[in-house]
Amino acid sequence: KKKIFSGIQPSGLLTLGNYIGAMKQFVELQDEGDCIFCVVDLHAITVPQEPELLRQNVRSLAAMFLAAGIDPQKATLMVQSHVKEHAELGWLMQCTAYMGELERMTQFKDKSEGKAAVNASLFTYPALMAADILLYDATHVPVGDDQKQHLELTRDLAQRFNGRFGETFTIPEPIIPKVGGRIMSLDDPSKKMSKSNPNEGSFISLLDEPKKIVRKVKRAVTDSENQIRFDEQEKPAISNLLTIYALASNQTIEQLESQYDGIGYGAFKSDVADAVVSLLEPMQQRYQEWIESDELDRVLLAGAEKAAEYAEQKMIEVKQRMGLIPRE
Ligand code: ATP
Ligand code: MG
Repeated sequence: KKKIFSGIQPSGLLTLGNYIGAMKQFVELQDEGDCIFCVVDLHAITVPQEPELLRQNVRSLAAMFLAAGIDPQKATLMVQSHVKEHAELGWLMQCTAYMGELERMTQFKDKSEGKAAVNASLFTYPALMAADILLYDATHVPVGDDQKQHLELTRDLAQRFNGRFGETFTIPEPIIPKVGGRIMSLDDPSKKMSKSNPNEGSFISLLDEPKKIVRKVKRAVTDSENQIRFDEQEKPAISNLLTIYALASNQTIEQLESQYDGIGYGAFKSDVADAVVSLLEPMQQRYQEWIESDELDRVLLAGAEKAAEYAEQKMIEVKQRMGLIPRE
């Protein structure tokens, strides 16, 4: 049976990129295996977070998982810092990883570029991510395209550990969507859409109200042609909008290309916005119900307890393999 793990950082409001690249897959995978979905708060603090805002973002992200369709009867939903073994195995993975391989990670390069102060944890982030996955012997990890490199490192670390100390960890496989694995920023189609982008116009938040969605799509950069066709090299912005439209409306890109043959960007954009609004409205209603209910906190407690059972056993095994003696 598949064992699925994936996490999302409470580093801001969830974007349409997070939904299309990750959460949509999570909802579909619930019926295919044992799933653990994690609000990775320890990852979020690799960049400065305001405590009060972080608290809100953790609950908000958990509510969004449930609003998007994660069923706590089927899947485990948990907060990373509630199971201390994540941090513990994270350290052991730092002791497994090499500086050289961490230095090659493009996420670190992107996120540290131009910053005066960068925390050490931003650099060692992939070791913690490896720990999150290996702690539960996940067989599959659904992620967006940008996390592919971190997944490869996770596999390398697992193999290295197994080679040195004996078979301990399951080697996980990534699951990356073929369409929608990398949704681009609305203001710059050469950069991925990111929830921590300070420019609000660069992303659509899952909580944006309809008017805002319409405005953001209208303002999205395009190109100087006036032709709607999918061509990521020549027309990255229009291709991105086509991808969003296709996934929001359950149509194929080919269908949309022929439907919009000869139609201008203005009309096209207004239909893209409508499709996104129809996708998000029901989710936003369910979100309101979850965020106001203390059922949310009960779900997170049950999730942490279930996850901890597995994680505690796994850590006993890992420490024993490495030669760390038990306390009693
Ligand atoms: P941050 O800017 O803080 O890193 P983020 O938007 O990149 O936020 P993460 O929490 O880092 O979000 O990633 C959560 C999941 O969403 C990961 O599986 C990641 O690959 C996926 N994801 C993030 N951005 C995109 C995107 N633009 N398109 C598709 N998937 C994405
Ligand atoms: Mg990210």
